[in-house]
Amino acid sequence: MWAQLLDALWALPLEKRIFAAVLLFSWTVYLWETFLAQRQRRVYRTTTHVPKELGQIMDSETFEKSRLYQLDKSTFSFWSGLYSEAEGTIILLFGGIPYLWNFSGVFCRRAGFGPEYEITQSLMFLFLATLFSALTGLPWSLYNTFVIEEKHGFNQQVLVTIYADYIAPLFDKFIPLPEGTLKEEIEVMAKNIDFPLTKVYVVEGSKRSSHSNAYFYGFFKNKRIVLFDTLLEDYSILNKDHQEETSIEPQNIGEGENPETKAKVRTKKQGCKNEEVLAVLGHELGHWKLGHTVKNIVISQMNSFLCFFLFAMLISRKELFAAFGFYDSQPTLIGLMIIFQFIFSPYNEVLSFCLTVLSRRFEFQADAFAKKLGKAKDLYSALIKLNKDNLGFPVSDWLFSMWHYSHPPLLERLQALQDSKQD
Ligand SMILES: [Zn+2]
Repeated sequence: MWAQLLDALWALPLEKRIFAAVLLFSWTVYLWETFLAQRQRRVYRTTTHVPKELGQIMDSETFEKSRLYQLDKSTFSFWSGLYSEAEGTIILLFGGIPYLWNFSGVFCRRAGFGPEYEITQSLMFLFLATLFSALTGLPWSLYNTFVIEEKHGFNQQVLVTIYADYIAPLFDKFIPLPEGTLKEEIEVMAKNIDFPLTKVYVVEGSKRSSHSNAYFYGFFKNKRIVLFDTLLEDYSILNKDHQEETSIEPQNIGEGENPETKAKVRTKKQGCKNEEVLAVLGHELGHWKLGHTVKNIVISQMNSFLCFFLFAMLISRKELFAAFGFYDSQPTLIGLMIIFQFIFSPYNEVLSFCLTVLSRRFEFQADAFAKKLGKAKDLYSALIKLNKDNLGFPVSDWLFSMWHYSHPPLLERLQALQDSKQD
């Protein structure tokens, strides 16, 4: 049956074959990702206990809450994904793109623009296409925000995340790390691995950001290390709050089932000890020493070059336009859309998978580098501390994780470090 189908496809004119291949590929990717999501859903359904590695940082109540949330979200994504795949297919099959293009043209002509103004028609097309996708997407995102996130009490997180990731950093204050043991130890480590360190900074008041902990920047022989004050136990502004909080603490004891552990968690300081800070830095500098930064730049440059080269070759091919219903005109905007969105999609899928695999490899290599510096134990405890507040659901199916996560989940990193702690 498959052989006959392929024969039948092969007998079609070239533009029909291109169209069929694009649709077929889109459904292949869709089915593959649905399969992965279904595997991940099984993990949500069956993993009902906190993994032992995370026992100290995640209680079973938080774990269960996050598990049920992910389960609902995953079911929702199944339906919204099916909808958008079906919508995309119907638009392609019924010639939605040329229809909207012609409609934009008619609209522009009525408004007094001649057919020579392709740019006006393109802008109109973009506007209408965006409007259409916003309108069809709106019910889904409303349902997501007001039903699912409301039910699980997660709905304010979007704003908080936007604030923490985009707005708060604008007001970050960089101050040089004061002289002291930490600074000396950082300098010694940098020297040992030939890292051309010129300055160490601390970002003050980075209370809100829980994403990044440390990074370096600068060219060639002039590199600076930046540490977020949330990383540093002796520095973290959170510990100042903490002193105020401890005074009201006795009132809270008694409500919880387990006042003793609650008190213990509360009195624990935020941030990492010096050895742990060094272990985190060991990981970051591992990225530098192993050439990860340079490799990433080279790859992305090569990719842009290749894309533009292919684009230049393909933009003049009339059969690509014909495949999507543009028989007698070849508008540039439509060409961009066809080539980057449809024709390149197999390439993009393969590339993004390779980059995901590579990025995960880099993370594990940087962890291994920190381990080679003798910091496996400190990195292990630092990772646990740093992920305490933004853990989400910590367990994932290996195949799902491999396809989607460019950064290995905490549990996989801990397991890798634990393996290396033993040897
Ligand atoms: Zn890293």
